[in-house]
Amino acid sequence: MRQIKTLWKQKKVTFSCEVFPPKREADFEPVTRAALKIAALKPDFMSVTYGAGGGTSRHTLQVASMIQDQCGVPALAHLTCVSSKREQVEEMLQEMKERGIQNVLALRGDIPQGMELNEDRDYHYASELIQDIHRAGDFCVGAACYPDGHVEASSRQEDLEHLREKVACGCDFLTTQMFFDNGVFYNFLYHVLAKGIQVPVLAGVMPVTNGKQIARICRMSGTVLPTRFRTIVERYGDSPRAMRQAGIAYATEQIIDLMANGVRGIHLYTMNKPEVAAEIMDNLSALLEA
Ligand code: FAD
Repeated sequence: MRQIKTLWKQKKVTFSCEVFPPKREADFEPVTRAALKIAALKPDFMSVTYGAGGGTSRHTLQVASMIQDQCGVPALAHLTCVSSKREQVEEMLQEMKERGIQNVLALRGDIPQGMELNEDRDYHYASELIQDIHRAGDFCVGAACYPDGHVEASSRQEDLEHLREKVACGCDFLTTQMFFDNGVFYNFLYHVLAKGIQVPVLAGVMPVTNGKQIARICRMSGTVLPTRFRTIVERYGDSPRAMRQAGIAYATEQIIDLMANGVRGIHLYTMNKPEVAAEIMDNLSALLEA
């Protein structure tokens, strides 16, 4: 299956979707059904998240393969490293090659709560993983970035400098953490370019359809909710139908503005909801063709 870096040579703007694999064996069937429904919408590619350890990590490649083999949509497999050994990473990359998965989103991963990490562990940062992926074979490699700043970074300048180093290790593109204020993203892009980072930066957009989850997600990810959107969540968060409608409308409006301003790619955090992804793609159908 094709390397997604070739897409930006052909298309003005890409539209991609993220899904997460089942956490429990019992959820495998409904989760893959949802992922395949999203793949049937024919986004330019789909990413599949990775949960370090346990069964979830195996499922990433299973779901990614199904998306490619059954729907012909290129898959981007996420891979984290902070709690992995080099041999485990090598095994995962070998399996990707066997399954024809050529695109990897290289991540450090969150440090699991309560886990003591040795200083002499195999991986400290995503940049080390990126180098190992390139040593392992001909992969297209992406990485994460944070318009609102990474939660652990002591300053924006330091975070950007680490981002520059990470891209220099061989990133073909970057995908942002979700953000809700396009102004924050444009400002981030300005600083990224000023650092000499030239790779495409895909804008991560999350349609918020569950008002109760969003405060926790923002706390964990460091994403800031702008007043305009916070007001919507406060007003409609307890009414699922109203929140769904408002969340889809907000995300649609955000994406239209991003596309009008020349963003290279939109990456939709679907939360495994095919109907929400379908509605947004339908709202944008003429724009995606333009
Ligand atoms: P890094 O790029 O390694 O950066 C982590 C921190 O270390 C930053 O504060 C950075 O400034 C700092 N840093 C980097 N290099 C250095 C250095 N040399 N010296 C000192 N400090 C340094 N998590 C999952 O578990 N599974 C997923 O599938 C997943 N998918 C994601 C997809 C996207 C698009 C995004 C934005 C995040 C995703 N995450 C996922 C979460 C991610 O793993 C966490 O945000 C994690 O805390 C940081 O990962 P990173 O790859 O950005 O880390």
